[in-house]
Amino acid sequence: MKKTLLTLSIAGAMVLSASPLATTPASAVGNGPGYGGNETINTSILHTYDEMVSYLKTQEAKQKDLELEVIGQSVKGRDLYLAKYMKNPDNPTILFLTQQHGNEQLTTEGALEFIKHLGTGKMKGVADNVNILIVPMLNADGAMGDVDFSLDDYIADGGRNLTRFNAVEVDLNRDHVDKIQPETQALHFNVMQKYDIDYMIDLHHQGANSERDGKLVSGSILYPNTPNADPEVVEKSKQLGAVVFDAVDSKGWGHLGKYVGGSAETISRNGIAVEYGISTLLFEMRGMSDHYREDYVLGQKSNGYLIKQTITTLDSTVRAIADGSIETMDTSFWDTLAEQTTRQTE
Ligand SMILES: [Zn+2]
Repeated sequence: MKKTLLTLSIAGAMVLSASPLATTPASAVGNGPGYGGNETINTSILHTYDEMVSYLKTQEAKQKDLELEVIGQSVKGRDLYLAKYMKNPDNPTILFLTQQHGNEQLTTEGALEFIKHLGTGKMKGVADNVNILIVPMLNADGAMGDVDFSLDDYIADGGRNLTRFNAVEVDLNRDHVDKIQPETQALHFNVMQKYDIDYMIDLHHQGANSERDGKLVSGSILYPNTPNADPEVVEKSKQLGAVVFDAVDSKGWGHLGKYVGGSAETISRNGIAVEYGISTLLFEMRGMSDHYREDYVLGQKSNGYLIKQTITTLDSTVRAIADGSIETMDTSFWDTLAEQTTRQTE
């Protein structure tokens, strides 16, 4: 039975290129084309946890400046990795964090690609002046759908479902004050408290229907907005956002809004800024890799530009910190950047 459905779905996808109208029967299967314009939600093209680990180890063997560190284990016992480029402890340091929410994977795909770039000639010398820390796939169990609750109503095809929560259904990005989950403890005890970090970008995905000025956004950004954050930390966060905005919004595929986010310090954007004096930026990119809500997921046709958006974000901020230009960034654009709204769908 399952095989029959798969065959139907593939047939539908093949017809798709000829005539989108012919795909209606495939959509009726449930997991076929149709999201955001005749696309498929297929997770098989994303790195699994094991594939990610093997990719990181291959890069570590190739790149002399890259060192991997295991910072802890997930609820289900998966080793959690930190990729480090630390040539000089006196250099400024930026941390990129991906997949606190397991169903938001394109940021991890972009981070892995960026790690590969760091080993190539076009990034030569950049890591001499900035330390780069990358925690990819913090919620490895959620990313692999290896959880103690049902994902039966999740949408994606491809042999694996991905969920926001960790294995015991906790949202890791609400655990930054209490630090109860092993994934959050690994991040705080073995990264935040161990390294002298100046900047952090926390990379996420949001629903697919957010817009700014009447146009769907490729993502939205926000600095810490708790009143307890040091104003200097907030200003540097806004400069980090300015670097990202300039690099991304100018691209043909880039269109950024101001994210509408609360002031709770259980969220890393706020909590980490207050607890460690680190300047933080939240980046919520468009569309999730899997969900039970159809308006949250985005088909793989969009993967290319969203992965590129992650690489552009990491590349531009690393370079701006390395050459010091981040410190002269004008933050006044934040005063006029419109908050995103949600496009109403029928
Ligand atoms: Zn998220």
